[in-house]
Amino acid sequence: MSKILVVAEFKNGEIRKPTLELLTKARQAGIPTDAALIGSGVRGAADQLAGHGAATVYLADDGALERYSSAAYLPLVTQAVEKSGATQVWFSMSETSNSLAPALAGRLDAGYVGGAAGMEIDGDDLTIHRPAMATKVMQKMTFLKDGLRIVSIRSGTFDLEPAEPVTAQTVDLELGEPDARVVVTDVVQEVQDDVDLGEASVIVSVGRGVKGPEGVEEVRPLAKLLGAAFGASRAVVDSGWMPHNTQVGQTGRVVSPDVYFSIGISGAIQHMAGMSGSKLIVAVNKDPDAPIFSIADYGIVGDLFKVVPILTEEIKKVKS
Ligand SMILES: Cc1cc2nc3c(=O)[nH]c(=O)nc-3n(C[C@H](O)[C@H](O)[C@H](O)COP(=O)(O)OP(=O)(O)OC[C@H]3O[C@@H](n4cnc5c(N)ncnc54)[C@H](O)[C@@H]3O)c2cc1C
Repeated sequence: MSKILVVAEFKNGEIRKPTLELLTKARQAGIPTDAALIGSGVRGAADQLAGHGAATVYLADDGALERYSSAAYLPLVTQAVEKSGATQVWFSMSETSNSLAPALAGRLDAGYVGGAAGMEIDGDDLTIHRPAMATKVMQKMTFLKDGLRIVSIRSGTFDLEPAEPVTAQTVDLELGEPDARVVVTDVVQEVQDDVDLGEASVIVSVGRGVKGPEGVEEVRPLAKLLGAAFGASRAVVDSGWMPHNTQVGQTGRVVSPDVYFSIGISGAIQHMAGMSGSKLIVAVNKDPDAPIFSIADYGIVGDLFKVVPILTEEIKKVKS
């Protein structure tokens, strides 16, 4: 019988939205689903996973698990897979899952596809859609052999349906001595805007067209007004106008919000690799031939320093 194990991600005291999107999809697919929840101070979040449909939550809550390390997490996720009898393991795509999911596949001799942007589900028959070659092509992939399927899925691929927490049925995982070869000694987090790019339903991103840090600040009120995350092209980040963790694209964050505002961004293939999965794209660029217009749903040809204040004022009017 098919069974899904969703490996939960927990950040700043709560379950991350992409995990809840996966649980929503698993529920809609009508396949029995469990969850694995690993970290420090995570026990209280088990009920949220249960509310979203996890029948059993496999739990490891320990101070030693505060920071991710594959040596500590891999044996625990392996236990959760074995105890749950899962035939599919779903991760949300993130730095953690980019490390953990292929390691799990190696350990359990399973098939693995990372970075799904769509998935057709018929029991354990999965057809996975995945952009490749900087989104120039969309691959369609299936698993050839029977056995465990492991997939990581981009945030925003599935819609989230809200659900109230219910009391979780939990099973504690056994903590062992991790066979660590490398240890993370410190994590320095860059100060970042309130809204995380990976979780935002609206993103406003700026490109070199803003001309400098002052130009960045002229666009920021639009993002604030929309409650949006504030992103950037690599040109902006490389110029030091915005921090590195705001970069969208092939070598930055891959995002798929409901709405993506591209302001003064040309639309290089490496940028589009990170945002072309957005449900609606609005582009502002003074060059009518800018490549971004080829994927934009709404395009405004004009000087962003004139367009953005008008856009901001109009949105203010609609909001009030
Ligand atoms: C291996 C590799 C990986 C890369 N990874 C990434 C990545 O992850 N993310 C990324 O973004 N890039 C990435 N790049 C860089 C990418 O190729 C582009 O150089 C970059 O995206 C360009 O950024 P931009 O569009 O902001 O700047 P530009 O290409 O300089 O475009 C600026 C745009 O602003 C418009 N403009 C100028 N003034 C105004 C105005 N007043 N009003 C309106 N519009 C205006 C211009 O018409 C132009 O289209 C990568 C490149 C390589 C080689």
